[in-house]
Amino acid sequence: TINETTSQLTAIARILHDLRIQMAIPLEESLSNALRDNALDLVYQVKKNLEGEVAGAEAYVRWNEPVRGLVPNSVLFDIAEKHDMLVPLDRWVMKTTFAQVSAWHKQGKWQDDQVMSINISHKSLVDPGFLNHVEVLLEDHELKPEYFAFEVTENTIMNYPEESRDKIRQIARLGIRVYIDDFGTGYSSLMNLKNFKINQLKIDKEIVQDVLEYSDQSESIIRSIMNIARELKIQVSAEGIETQEQMDLLSSVGCTLFQGYFLGRPESAEQFQTLYFQTDSEDLDA
Ligand code: C2E
Ligand code: MG
Ligand code: MG
Ligand code: MG
Repeated sequence: TINETTSQLTAIARILHDLRIQMAIPLEESLSNALRDNALDLVYQVKKNLEGEVAGAEAYVRWNEPVRGLVPNSVLFDIAEKHDMLVPLDRWVMKTTFAQVSAWHKQGKWQDDQVMSINISHKSLVDPGFLNHVEVLLEDHELKPEYFAFEVTENTIMNYPEESRDKIRQIARLGIRVYIDDFGTGYSSLMNLKNFKINQLKIDKEIVQDVLEYSDQSESIIRSIMNIARELKIQVSAEGIETQEQMDLLSSVGCTLFQGYFLGRPESAEQFQTLYFQTDSEDLDA
């Protein structure tokens, strides 16, 4: 019957698909090729302030592997770490993001008070060539350092406290902001934060998403984060906001910057531009 034929064909297709993957080059070799051939992508997720204005964006890498399709970032970063490709991967992301902000700036789209976040892995942060690389990027693109923030995870800071502190100070000296990402997941060194030149704590999305279900625990974590931030006079933002309720709760405790599917999904540069930039020329034409 047609049904039997269809299911046989589906089974064959599945076997062929698995075979293609088995015969494909190893993932690490494919990643190395992708970096060489500029075959990765970036997406940008909007950040909004209390007034709902576009405060900036965060760049995330996406890898559409030719045979396997979209590779989750958890897998991508595992492979990159295992095969010593974290530094080149971060450099690809930095270069591409700087070029994008530069283009938006030239087109009059990027506003002076908007900030583009770039995630920086632990390997890059401790890499001796990192600062120089960033300086050269800034000069090449003739961009203000204030347009950028580097996101360093709380884990990186906890695992490399001394290197992180020194590097973060040097980054701050360049004029680039530093945000602590995934904050609240491992808060052993909270009080040491006063020794760091950081600009913002980003409450981790697991905490943001737990707050309404297990409100007691997560809410007290959030309140202690707010207290520390107030004492250190640093901004607090929240990632992973998916609902109005989460948004309301976080703004009520003093969060001032918001990010998550509720505000906007990660988008291609083209999509981001149509969604979030109103160009003056278009306003004039209208
Ligand atoms: P992160 O920097 O904390 O980024 C937040 C992650 O949560 C992103 O996943 C983002 O797409 C996702 N997300 C944003 N809003 C929501 C939401 O409302 N709900 C949910 N469930 N998820 C949301 P992604 O892009 O898969 O990245 C995962 C992690 O991989 C990032 O966590 C970051 O640590 C790392 N990463 C991503 N791109 C880069 C990069 O270019 N360089 C480096 N070094 N790390 C990156
Ligand atoms: Mg981040
Ligand atoms: Mg984060
Ligand atoms: Mg996170």
